[in-house]
Amino acid sequence: MKLDHDRQRILIDIATAWSALQRVDDPEDTDEYRALADLRAQRDQRRRQGAVTSLDHGDSVRTITRLTTDRARLVRRIRDNDKTLAASVDPAVRREAAHDKKAAEKRLSALDRELKAEENKLARTTGPTPGETTQFADSYRAAEKDYRRRAAELAADKAELTERLQALLDQLDPADAKELRAQTRATGVCAVVFSGRSCPGCQMVLSPAEVKTIEQTDKDEVARCPQCGTFLVLGGDHERKA
Ligand SMILES: [Zn+2]
Repeated sequence: MKLDHDRQRILIDIATAWSALQRVDDPEDTDEYRALADLRAQRDQRRRQGAVTSLDHGDSVRTITRLTTDRARLVRRIRDNDKTLAASVDPAVRREAAHDKKAAEKRLSALDRELKAEENKLARTTGPTPGETTQFADSYRAAEKDYRRRAAELAADKAELTERLQALLDQLDPADAKELRAQTRATGVCAVVFSGRSCPGCQMVLSPAEVKTIEQTDKDEVARCPQCGTFLVLGGDHERKA
């Protein structure tokens, strides 16, 4: 690549802009996204639980209604028997009333136990309170808002860095810009400052002959690492005095 010696630093600026762009996080690789994903999983879980709970809840309510109706009927039956016992002197009628009252009382106490058990079951199938539901919805909305804000920030950073990189690339010949792009794809970095014996692009220690070739590259030509092709802007001991 031909490039005036005093303009070669632009390659380092380009490499720096490129690496900054690569460091911008993927929106889905942020704490905000992870927090939202966690709440999403909780929300789905709550929905599944809610569906089961509301089915069980309906069954319990129906059972309790039936038991309560039965109970009222038994209470009435006991009261009727009490009335008969208070009013009648006929031993046969009284015996029958006493017998029926006893049977109704026995049934009533069994029914009360059933009712109590069903009421306990109902308490267990009752889902989260409206307060809990509102609280969850609020946290979910807050997490969504945080994530949207973070994703927008990242998109803005990315746009700004892309623009900065493009502005630098536009200062070069299009063919050179294309070559830098290809080198970035190949090794992750298009240009480095070469100041010692190893290439900062591939970390290889170059032979004295290779270093010599690099040093002897024409002043207005950009040297390349013989191992990885990264463009080398000469610095340190290799720096040419203009
Ligand atoms: Zn290299």
